[in-house]
Amino acid sequence: MDNKNIKKTKEELTKNIKDSEEALKELRKKCKHSDTVIKNVELESSTFKLRKVCDLCGEHVGFPTNDELKDNGYMQ
Ligand SMILES: [Zn+2]
Repeated sequence: MDNKNIKKTKEELTKNIKDSEEALKELRKKCKHSDTVIKNVELESSTFKLRKVCDLCGEHVGFPTNDELKDNGYMQ
């Protein structure tokens, strides 16, 4: 693969990522987040934090309460 092809392919792939992100946003708008789970979520700083996440679309819907942490075995 020559440099020109690499650049062209990179641009196509980058566009695909943007299109997918847009599609995911639209999907998450349609979702009612009726099925949530407590999960370790990787944040932008590469640290992991427990968050309440929609099990269907993956949207972060909030922070788990202490009761929810207990119910999911994260607290005693
Ligand atoms: Zn959802």
